[in-house]
Amino acid sequence: MKPKILFASPIGPYTKLALKEDPIDFFYYRNTFGQKMFQLRSFQSWHSLHFLAQNIAVDSVVLENPTMKIFQKEIHNGEYEIIAIGFTILLTKKVLEMVEWIKLNFPAIEIVIGGYGTAVFTESFETSDKLKNMVNYISYGEGLELMNSIIKHKWNINNNNKVLRQDLLPAKNSFFRTHIEIFQQIVLVGGLGCVFGCSFCATSSQFNKKYIPLFTGKQLFDSLCEQRKKHPTIKSAIIYDEDFLLNRRQVLEFIECFKNSELQNSGMLLTIFASLKSLLNFSREELIDCGVGSIFIGVESLSEEVLKREGLTKRKGEVEDIFRQLHSYGINTIGSLIIGWDSQNLMLAKSDSERFINMNPTFYQVVPLHIVPGTKLWDEMKLAERVLPNYKVEFDGITDFNFEAKSFSHHEARDLVFKTYDGLVKEGGPWPFRFFENLLYGYLNLKEKNEANLFNRAKIYKSMLPATFILAFASRYFFFGKNYRYRWNQSMRKFIKHSPMLFFLGTVISPFVAFLLLVIWFYGNIKFLFSRKGDQPDFIRREYFS
Ligand code: SF4
Repeated sequence: MKPKILFASPIGPYTKLALKEDPIDFFYYRNTFGQKMFQLRSFQSWHSLHFLAQNIAVDSVVLENPTMKIFQKEIHNGEYEIIAIGFTILLTKKVLEMVEWIKLNFPAIEIVIGGYGTAVFTESFETSDKLKNMVNYISYGEGLELMNSIIKHKWNINNNNKVLRQDLLPAKNSFFRTHIEIFQQIVLVGGLGCVFGCSFCATSSQFNKKYIPLFTGKQLFDSLCEQRKKHPTIKSAIIYDEDFLLNRRQVLEFIECFKNSELQNSGMLLTIFASLKSLLNFSREELIDCGVGSIFIGVESLSEEVLKREGLTKRKGEVEDIFRQLHSYGINTIGSLIIGWDSQNLMLAKSDSERFINMNPTFYQVVPLHIVPGTKLWDEMKLAERVLPNYKVEFDGITDFNFEAKSFSHHEARDLVFKTYDGLVKEGGPWPFRFFENLLYGYLNLKEKNEANLFNRAKIYKSMLPATFILAFASRYFFFGKNYRYRWNQSMRKFIKHSPMLFFLGTVISPFVAFLLLVIWFYGNIKFLFSRKGDQPDFIRREYFS
């Protein structure tokens, strides 16, 4: 029998819930919350499973989002000797179900579990204790080293691959609750973990405040080129690395490759994650040379007191000013705000909310402060006996508090979260308009510059304007915020000078586009309402050969 491993995500289906109550938010609706038909359904695959499968020395199969029945069938037919399951804390119970079934029916199969869910083992809970006792291995870190050593131990097979592979499934972004696709993104991973050790951060505590680089700047660029060849129609890529700009030398290596390649002119734009502190080490021009089109920035709070008390050194710098500057270069922002810090009273939290709204991030997330086992904040809350007495891992979602808040009630904080979302939409409208506004101002600003790289970026923005314009124009039928309307009028006035014909076309076809958007919105809602299981992530099965 040839050695073979099954990699699996937790089984579905996920509970059918309204957006506000959904603790998992599998499709990242929080990034466009409140935007009606423009709420983006972003489907991300379980990338870590594919990454491991592609880099081990034996054959494997990856199963994503199977039902229990499909999972069982795969094991019955697959002759697996090892099964590896990736999970998050909230999905601990599902993994326990899977493991119990395997142990009962195939006791000889060895089980490995890994992923962010393993943070749950830093504490003792009924579900996780049971799970811990039933599995053979737990991978707390990056996973590949452990998988290689298990394979060596079991089959005496060495992994001689020196360079890592990454051929991950593109992220698919579609209309609300539908599979009607708007755009896709190539997915790459740069490295794991983060050195900043923010008190609340699960990623950083998972990797003991260390960063594990997986690819050099040049290797990452080569991976991007390979993926580009494989998916020639995709024009953007997302690089998973908690602080992509941290290692300046690596980034400069990437820039050197990128700016001297055909990608620079191809319109390929990157989405990266960066701390404000690292971001400030790069000029806007360098970001353009790097191909950056969007940056996820953890704002967390705008109050100096919170930043100091929580030791959020990553947030050093004038974040509001940076957002303005990035937008003026046509670079989109994904801002994240947390509500419920100990050093916040309701007034300070409201002030954070207002300032965040004014920053007008292109995409956003606003979440109640949430403590995760293994983090510094969890330990502090535990010591102060503030973890909720009825805490259960299986209900530990991102939409709610899981500890006794100090300064205001859970109800007040949740209320402020949704008021902030509401304010964001009133300020900037839906993402197609926000996107269009940045592109337009970025184009108008950069086309006047003498530097070739900036002028070139202006050309890219110009080529992207028509497609975004139509949706941005039609958004006016559905959104009525005073500031959004003001922004809409201002930017359309500028656009009409730039493209009068296109503007005229927009006025003619926008009623039809608006009607189509309404139909899609209606279809998505009806489909969700009448389907028994709601909107479930796609089932995926991939085979890999060593
Ligand atoms: S900078 Fe971001 S990833 Fe790093 S520790 Fe802080 S919150 Fe976590």
